[in-house]
Amino acid sequence: MIVILHPDTDKAEAAYRKLVAYIDELANVTYRVHDVVGASHTVTELYLIGNTAALDQREIESFEVVERVVRVSQEYRVLGRHKGDPRASGFTYNGVEFSQDELHVFAGLCAVSTREHVEAMMRALAAAGQVCTRMGAYKPRTSPYSFQGHGRACLPWVFELAGKHGLRVIAMEITHESHVDEIHAALEQSGRPTGVMVQIGTRNTQNFELLKYVGRQREYPVLFKRGFGITLEESLNAAEYLASEGNRNVIFCLRGMKTNLGDPHRNMVDFAHIPVVKRLTRMPVGIDPSHSVGSRERSADGILDVMHATAQGVIAGANLVLVDFHPEPARALVDGPQTLRVEELEWFLEDVRIVREAYLARRACMARLEPPQT
Ligand code: PEP
Ligand code: MN
Repeated sequence: MIVILHPDTDKAEAAYRKLVAYIDELANVTYRVHDVVGASHTVTELYLIGNTAALDQREIESFEVVERVVRVSQEYRVLGRHKGDPRASGFTYNGVEFSQDELHVFAGLCAVSTREHVEAMMRALAAAGQVCTRMGAYKPRTSPYSFQGHGRACLPWVFELAGKHGLRVIAMEITHESHVDEIHAALEQSGRPTGVMVQIGTRNTQNFELLKYVGRQREYPVLFKRGFGITLEESLNAAEYLASEGNRNVIFCLRGMKTNLGDPHRNMVDFAHIPVVKRLTRMPVGIDPSHSVGSRERSADGILDVMHATAQGVIAGANLVLVDFHPEPARALVDGPQTLRVEELEWFLEDVRIVREAYLARRACMARLEPPQT
């Protein structure tokens, strides 16, 4: 059960203490306090845990400081979308707003290679009006003999170049908790020229200790990849680990599912699940067409499969597109065969714009023409 208080309730107030004293008296119920800090108001929520089924919702709602009480289903308590749940989705990070209504493209290098490549990518992004990118410093690889990423050595110059080109958010995968500390230290030392969204890759979806660590810090939002071989419910429960530890600034990213049916694509594209995740939770939902499709194959219509898959996600309301680009794919250190070329950025963004408009038109059409529900 979530008890939502009136905005800007002062915890020193007698009315607040009266509510807390009441909850303290309840048998087998404990609570956690969570402050949602918005641009102009702070909303305090009390998460009641334990034997809440027997509690009288009306009685709790009658307390002066209480705005509303929401009964949550067992699963995804913090990130879930519950009946009559007024809590907003999304968050603002480093001046960029993320929600179930926004759309941001994170085009960039799967793995940081040279300074020249990073700069060429960032210059192209800035010219195209982009403020987000992806840059892999820590790469989880199938083989221990493959390139594992430049690690913390590249962070200072990657952050400096991002600042120079006005990039505000870099999606960067981490595979160990120490990587969060290394990113934090490098950002501090470079004077915070940019921001980082910590990415949890599909191989770590159920690495619960890593999730708890990342969840305990609230500074960096999290781009959380769906597990490639587990149920959607298991992946959503794993995302909830982040929120249950305190970090609810989480974007859920679809990236295809592993199948063994000789598929033409690296993974089976699962972007039809965007509306499902938006219905079950309040998280913004992203897509990774590069790691889903895994190639630069093109269809008879001349359009690349990776762009068709992107379009399928965007027309279903995706809020983030994570996509591999490289100025010199032949010299990419990871995933060169699936990467788009920097010269293709304008084409890609235009395709996304066309499809996003179609999605917004679909929403408007639904609002205008849908017959009333009976
Ligand atoms: C990536 O985005 O670079 C990546 C490795 O993706 P995934 O974890 O989805 O395989
Ligand atoms: Mn990759």
